[in-house]
Amino acid sequence: MRKSFNDGIVYTNEKCIGCNKCIASCPVGGACVALNDNGSERVEVASDKCLDCGACVLACNHKAREYKDDVTLFFDELSAGKKVSVMVSPAFYSAVGPEKAKQVLGYLKSLGVEHIYDVSFGAEICLWAHVKYLRENKENPERAFVGQTCPAVMNYLETVSPQLLKYVIPVQSPAVCTGIYAKKYLQDENSIAFISPCVAASDEAKAQTSLGSYQYNITFSKLMERLEDVDISNFGAEAEITGMGLGELVMDNGGFKEAVELFFSKQESIVCFDAMVNIDMPKQGNLVEDMRVRPLFAEFNNCVRGCLSGPGSIADIDYMEVFANSAIRRREIYSKLKDYLGEKSNFELLENYLGKLEAADFKREFNDRYQQVYQIPESAYEDIYNAMHKETEEKRKIDCGSCGHKTCREMVQAIAYGHNRMENCIHYMNDEMKHRFYMDALTGGYNKKGFLEHIDSFIKANRGKEFLMISASINQLNVINDLYGFAVGDKIIARGGRVCKRFLESKNGIFGRLGGGDFLVCVEFVEGYDKRIVADRYYDCTDIGVAFPVCYRAGVYRFTSNDECNFESIINYCIMARDAVEETTRNVFHFYDEQFKKRIDNEVIITSKMYEAIEDKEFVPYFQPQYNHKSGELIGAEVLCRWITRDGKMVSPGIFIPIFERNGFVCSLDKYMWEKAFECQERWLEEGMDPVPISVNISRISLRDDRFIEVITDIRNRYKVPEKYIHFEVTETAYSSNQVEMAKKVEILRSMNYRVSMDDFGSGYSSLNVLKDIPMDTIKLDLGFLRGENPNKGEQIIRHVVSMVKDLDYEIIAEGVETEQQADFLGDVGCNNIQGYYYARPMPQKDYEELLRKRVEARKANQK
Ligand code: C2E
Ligand code: CA
Ligand code: CA
Repeated sequence: MRKSFNDGIVYTNEKCIGCNKCIASCPVGGACVALNDNGSERVEVASDKCLDCGACVLACNHKAREYKDDVTLFFDELSAGKKVSVMVSPAFYSAVGPEKAKQVLGYLKSLGVEHIYDVSFGAEICLWAHVKYLRENKENPERAFVGQTCPAVMNYLETVSPQLLKYVIPVQSPAVCTGIYAKKYLQDENSIAFISPCVAASDEAKAQTSLGSYQYNITFSKLMERLEDVDISNFGAEAEITGMGLGELVMDNGGFKEAVELFFSKQESIVCFDAMVNIDMPKQGNLVEDMRVRPLFAEFNNCVRGCLSGPGSIADIDYMEVFANSAIRRREIYSKLKDYLGEKSNFELLENYLGKLEAADFKREFNDRYQQVYQIPESAYEDIYNAMHKETEEKRKIDCGSCGHKTCREMVQAIAYGHNRMENCIHYMNDEMKHRFYMDALTGGYNKKGFLEHIDSFIKANRGKEFLMISASINQLNVINDLYGFAVGDKIIARGGRVCKRFLESKNGIFGRLGGGDFLVCVEFVEGYDKRIVADRYYDCTDIGVAFPVCYRAGVYRFTSNDECNFESIINYCIMARDAVEETTRNVFHFYDEQFKKRIDNEVIITSKMYEAIEDKEFVPYFQPQYNHKSGELIGAEVLCRWITRDGKMVSPGIFIPIFERNGFVCSLDKYMWEKAFECQERWLEEGMDPVPISVNISRISLRDDRFIEVITDIRNRYKVPEKYIHFEVTETAYSSNQVEMAKKVEILRSMNYRVSMDDFGSGYSSLNVLKDIPMDTIKLDLGFLRGENPNKGEQIIRHVVSMVKDLDYEIIAEGVETEQQADFLGDVGCNNIQGYYYARPMPQKDYEELLRKRVEARKANQK
């Protein structure tokens, strides 16, 4: 069944802000449907469910509920010459005042309305038929007892509670009675319009059960709106048929009950159930069903103050005035019932007056219009409760009504049927907000804020116990995102959450995601647990299409919970331990232990001293000469950095370079060393020392730096050193990430006419690829990597590498050559360029200068 919104008589206009008041006022579940329409909240009317009771029109504070009536059609047909009569609700006189009411009727007559009937007459027919039925059926245990005066209530019974229809007295309503009387007894063949305060009368006009008694519903407010600019003061007309007066009282809430009472003894129970908007109709229905002793008669109305206050009435009614007038009318009317003390004689009066009518003409039948809705299974309710964070009984019974429904259960039902949205529950929104504030949707763990806020109370609740804090980070998540897209990246992160949960398996702990692929886990330590997590080495993601070995690095810190725990430090220790390990192709756990602490302390000392050291020129270049083994000639030298501290101690680059690489300082140091190399070469050239080319090292961090080329260009511009005197060395690991960009930079260096060599060739796993992809001049083969237990194999490798490198037209130099034997072997296989302890160790600048000087002198001596 397709739901059509706003297609019926009652509809929502653009002023709706989705406040739910209409839902709260609606007697039918699902007639008001809360929607989110392109981001704006609205409540629309499900036209197939709406009873047109108009309660929402009255309830809406925003003038967002409107209704349609037949005012336009009526005037159109009137001006088209159609013959029309009018029947007017007695409430009209009260609503607009008796004078104005007459003017309106006069004006309508001037437009061509033929007859005017007062519905109070029909109300008396209705009353007479009711009383007649009740008198005749008094002893019948099956007799009906619900009055039939309100079209909204009848809509309710026919569509929502048809099981109650059998209790409704089968008589037509006052309006229908009036119409039937006009047509049948007065032979009025015109279309008839009902001037009413009622929205549901539009349904009654069209209902088959109304037997075509009237055709148009014209509400007070729309009629008066229509006449706003018309001067009607000179018009005036009275209704042709009016009742004896009782019918006027029927329009008040409880008025019909009061009228019925006139015809029965005080011993009978004749009651009025309050307005439909104020009562819970479904429960009222049960009440009717369950009633042990049924009343003789019961009146049910929709509107709070009777018809006068109907949704189609006018807004500014002075009820005090109305009350005063009706008090006066009441006296007049009752005085006509000369013998109103006796039920019997009252009925006789009515009989004398209406008894000539055929009661059967005013009999009504009812339609069962109930739409069976499919039943939502209990499990769906459970799911909705849980999705709304209503896990406890308590939270399921808040029943605050802010959503428009009386109970949480009713709201959940509305959600299940698609009539409302979770977002209309303020408790859900509060919980959800907290949830989003503290939880991570991807992994189901805490987010950063949630973790940091909960860790404290968690640890404090477990005082004296030992814990492991683990900071884990998924390696190269950005590469994965880049290669496979964010959706896959998210799956990897979700899986990271699962790994965290596995850490916690059946142990006391919490976890959270700090952002990206970074997680924190705090788990109670049990003996052997540290070993167990270390054993967890796999992180298989092939099933989601990632061929890449996905793994993480984790830093772990073990501590005992006490009041002095400082989480910032503890988390920092973990992160330090984590970041101290390289990204590899398997999961790595690195404990922050004593040894690591020492290393970190050392790193802190070195880091704290480095700026001062460069200022104080504590970094000095050493030179390691390179020779041609065949000719014995000096062919170059490598510039290697030494840190000579203030107290004369020498620190090896093996210690400080990795630290500087981590903290970025290596860029400054490289720049400093390059400048030293240019400075030396310039001076030696000026002094006629006939220097040989020297190689400087480029750290991978420097190579990655954006200003790399700029820095080298700047140095080159400041020193008069021909390009051939400076070589650059880069290590192949430099290419493992972002090869293309690195290749570009090497290409620029070469286009500046510098020679570039591949340092430490043979150390990594991508050597051969590098030969293919990166433009190079020289390959620097490191013997250190081939030194090992299997010297024969090493030799074989060297032989082949040398021949391959030469085939590819690269220069080749071997470093780390320590013995004559090695040097001879290299010479034999075609690699004559040699650097290593065998010829010379790295030496201070003055020693190297001495070497250059001696070389020049020797050459001079030779020339002599
Ligand atoms: P590297 O660039 O591979 O430098 C060669 C290393 O091998 C030097 O170690 C050198 O002293 C050592 N070596 C030379 N001949 C032999 C030999 O026959 N046997 C053995 N066992 N070793 C030999 P050093 O000077 O300790 O430097 C270590 C590393 O520090 C260098 O490796 C380089 O990666 C880095 N480094 C040194 N100075 C600088 C610099 O100014 N900038 C940058 N970025 N890195 C530098
Ligand atoms: Ca080097
Ligand atoms: Ca090297």
